[in-house]
Amino acid sequence: MGSTGILITVEECPKCGIKLKRSFQDGDYVGKEGGICDFCGSKMYVKMIYLEPAPTRR
Ligand SMILES: [Zn+2]
Repeated sequence: MGSTGILITVEECPKCGIKLKRSFQDGDYVGKEGGICDFCGSKMYVKMIYLEPAPTRR
């Protein structure tokens, strides 16, 4: 089996630019509405989704 990674979803607040990394959840897509920004209370949006390599033993 090859090594897999972890899908990470990055949400961004359009107002203050805060980015929030969290684990990917089923149904996530770029542009989807996310959570509420802790700083300004605006709605955050999914900015990007990427695959983060899983930690591997050396
Ligand atoms: Zn904000």
